[in-house]
Amino acid sequence: MTLAMPTAIRNYNHDSRLEIDWSDGHRSHYSHENLRVHCPCADCRGHTPDQARHITGKEDVRISRIDPVGNYALKIAFDDGHETGLYNFTELRETFCECPEHVGVSRQGR
Ligand SMILES: [Zn+2]
Ligand SMILES: [Zn+2]
Repeated sequence: MTLAMPTAIRNYNHDSRLEIDWSDGHRSHYSHENLRVHCPCADCRGHTPDQARHITGKEDVRISRIDPVGNYALKIAFDDGHETGLYNFTELRETFCECPEHVGVSRQGR
């Protein structure tokens, strides 16, 4: 399976929303809060699920910078000073995507 690549990234800070268009035609959208509280960096997520940090109070967090990392991830910096999160394309598509098609999948069994 070839990995879809982002063809356009649009960040809307006024309503804390991020949109990504993918090379296979899918359009993903994300809330800044959801990306921040599920930050995949080792510090936030820990090495096992029970080490994961419970992050709250990020309703007003905004993305301050987005940098592509190689051909597989985006590094997203937030205005609360946190900037170590590497969001790989697979997780952006399968875990984080909040489009109607994906929300049903990722929320199951949790
Ligand atoms: Zn983090
Ligand atoms: Zn989706």
